[in-house]
Amino acid sequence: MGDTIFGKIIRREIPADIVFENDELLAFRDVNPQAPVHVLFIPKKPIATLDDAIPEDAALLGRLLLAAADYARREGFAAQGYRTVVNCNEYGGQTVFHLHVHLLAGRRLHWPPG
Ligand code: C5P
Repeated sequence: MGDTIFGKIIRREIPADIVFENDELLAFRDVNPQAPVHVLFIPKKPIATLDDAIPEDAALLGRLLLAAADYARREGFAAQGYRTVVNCNEYGGQTVFHLHVHLLAGRRLHWPPG
């Protein structure tokens, strides 16, 4: 139930350019990058949207965000700057219903987003 293309990536049923993995998280390059760096960080636990997260997910979601920050520091663009984004449901622009954090970097990003 609730399986998505990201579930298939976690199970290695479809390929992805994976840049980080541990027992509970996975990160891979977005196939349609919106910036020179565009990486998706996902929990292996299939939470559909941020609206489906429960209080027990708080620490997991914290580690998810920190994994993105660690990656930015490791790759050397943290000081220059980057953006993390979680789209939620239709008006938020979510298209894959497995919660994910977009990490965007490598160019000056506009605000407000479209
Ligand atoms: O926030 P949203 O749900 O729209 O983001 C989904 C993202 O997943 C998109 O940026 C899309 O390019 C990416 N994607 C991917 N690999 C896939 C399918 C979608 O990187 N196989």
